[in-house]
Amino acid sequence: AYNFNAGPAALPLEVLQQAQEQFVDFQGIGMSIMEISHRSKQYEQVHHETQDLLRELMNIPSNYKILFLQGGASTQFAMIPMNLVKSGQMSSYVHTGSWANKAIKEAKLFGEVQIAASSKEQEFKEIPDLSKLAINPKAAYLHVTSNETIGGIQYSEYPNTGDIPLIADMSSDILCRPVDVSRFGMIYAGAQKNLGPSGVTLVIAREDLVQQSPEHVPTMFRYDTHVENNSLYNTPPVYSIYMVNLVLKWIKGKGGLAEVQQFNTEKASLIYDAIDSSNGFYKGVAVPKDRSIMNITFTMSSEELEKQFIAESQKEGFVGLKGHRSVGGLRASTYNAVPYESCKALADFMIDFQKRNG
Ligand code: PLP
Repeated sequence: AYNFNAGPAALPLEVLQQAQEQFVDFQGIGMSIMEISHRSKQYEQVHHETQDLLRELMNIPSNYKILFLQGGASTQFAMIPMNLVKSGQMSSYVHTGSWANKAIKEAKLFGEVQIAASSKEQEFKEIPDLSKLAINPKAAYLHVTSNETIGGIQYSEYPNTGDIPLIADMSSDILCRPVDVSRFGMIYAGAQKNLGPSGVTLVIAREDLVQQSPEHVPTMFRYDTHVENNSLYNTPPVYSIYMVNLVLKWIKGKGGLAEVQQFNTEKASLIYDAIDSSNGFYKGVAVPKDRSIMNITFTMSSEELEKQFIAESQKEGFVGLKGHRSVGGLRASTYNAVPYESCKALADFMIDFQKRNG
């Protein structure tokens, strides 16, 4: 299948094959990794190696903790304000679409929220002008959604927030390109796009932000619990972390994040070029300067034509091209594991479909 699903999304075929080989017998122990203790030396090795691989690939400084949590990125929407907003403080958010909105909704449960910038008036087709960002000095942090998976917009540069920690939801673009981790207070991501299968949520946090949670926060929702126990307070999602480990080795084998970025840009360009050279037959949703290289959103002149496009593409083996139910249209998600050949096949299909229906 040409898998363009938005999430859970494509995994590298080599990784799936490797996991299949080790499925019933992990490294000769005669059992699956799913069947052994999370305190065993075999699992601990995977756990630590996965952290080391992330540190190496993302160049994560030593004063940052790497946590493997559960509950998805959606739980982070609540855990962040629950842990970080102290008395007398507020939180600040950039509103860029559906996912930012969900994060804002949770933050409002824990105190005052400032919307430092919003592209609502632009129908979330672009990232707001960051030069006009006005962060309230009482803000415990500024939160951004690095890539809006539904709208198809992505930050090309992150705002300068001075002493106020910058927090980014990178659920749908983590590891798609190099980022300077030292500019962030925290980065988090559900695994099920670029990291591995669902079930584990990655949190990369500057030590001082996660050292002490407020007293009233329950044990499992406290960052300090997971920091103190190196994400082994309770049973971690062992199999998901093992899969992330394999995905990280696959990325390392590709040469690292600069190479991955180049590859992703080339893949996305194939599809954006098909849109831009279609004389309006396909219309890109995002303003070109903020186009995502992970989620390519576009529309056609009528819903009927879009339905026909989806039906015909399915017959040709394309999967997941229907836009999110909240916005309609079409969306091709071109995460790290989507091969160049799939993107080329989609661009060719788009050109051919236009010839037949334009
Ligand atoms: N944030 C973004 C940008 C997403 O794309 C998603 C999921 O698709 C989420 C958050 C929610 O992630 P989860 O399903 O892990 O809670």
